[in-house]
Amino acid sequence: KKVNGPSLEKLYKGVLAGERRELARAITLIESNAEYHFAQAQELLQKLLPHAGRALRIGITGVPGAGKSTFIEALGSFLCGEGLSVAVLAVDPSSNISGGSILGDKTRMEQLARNKRAFIRPSPSSGKLGGVHRKTRETMLVCEAAGFDVILVETVGVGQSEVIVREMVDFFMLLVLTGAGDELQGMKKGIMELADAVLVNKADGENKKRAEKTKQEYNQILHFLQPATKGWVTKAYTCSALKNEGIGNVWRTVKAFEESTKQSGIFAERRRAQTKEWMKSMIIDQLQTDFFHHPLVKELLPKYENEVIAGDKTATSAVNSLFQHYFQAKS
Ligand code: GDP
Repeated sequence: KKVNGPSLEKLYKGVLAGERRELARAITLIESNAEYHFAQAQELLQKLLPHAGRALRIGITGVPGAGKSTFIEALGSFLCGEGLSVAVLAVDPSSNISGGSILGDKTRMEQLARNKRAFIRPSPSSGKLGGVHRKTRETMLVCEAAGFDVILVETVGVGQSEVIVREMVDFFMLLVLTGAGDELQGMKKGIMELADAVLVNKADGENKKRAEKTKQEYNQILHFLQPATKGWVTKAYTCSALKNEGIGNVWRTVKAFEESTKQSGIFAERRRAQTKEWMKSMIIDQLQTDFFHHPLVKELLPKYENEVIAGDKTATSAVNSLFQHYFQAKS
């Protein structure tokens, strides 16, 4: 259904006033795959943009079972208790590929979902990671225009999605489990190098001692890694999301990070770099879509593919020919 002018105005005003119904509708518009919605969503975003950017953006990752949703519930409730408002978004690239979503089922974060200061939005389902990226980033901007103080972006640790979330947040944390000696060895250094904090969760009961030991092990490794943020030393911390322990400490760490990076200018510098990167990835995304949807490319691609498979043509020359046809048709 098309959103007409007055109704777009209503959306705009509703979002600015922080009305949940209008906020949810605006996000639905952004997430829509219909072309006529795209133009309207962009018009809305253009108007909302001057009101965005004031929230603190935090990314949270970890393997399934690490305790992400329990932790977000705990941190989110803590922040609401401090008088802050919190929007929780998710990036779940698996939702369309596997048919079932790892994140975003409705039973999660029940307590936080009932809090008036909180807003929880599951991951947009779109096959293309680039599409999820754009939608989540734009949703984040809309939530900021709606006045949220903190945006929590959750993602499951399955490779590319961490990099995507790192690219849209100020602070990035990695949730890990105790007794992960082997895991520690096998853990991709790359993910740890994205993190501003490593949280050893489930530090409660019999697990407490082991969690302390795991924390030390992580600190030893972190010592040799490239820090994710210039001028900030990434450290490991323990917490219990379930018992609500160490959550305040996590928040103090985030605030200390915010203060020091804002003072050094790294905070603003990162946001500028992120905006540039975002634009670049959108260019790549649109070029790709335009190319593969072009009738001539659609017609010629199978023919060239067959020639390459048969060994009659090199892949490079086939690609060059395709580009030539495409750009000629475009000009
Ligand atoms: P996610 O898959 O990373 O979102 O993990 P969940 O938040 O769903 O947690 C997975 C399981 O670990 C659930 O059974 C939680 O109750 C449990 N859990 C999460 N945090 C803690 C914690 O701090 N301590 C303990 N003991 N259990 C926890």
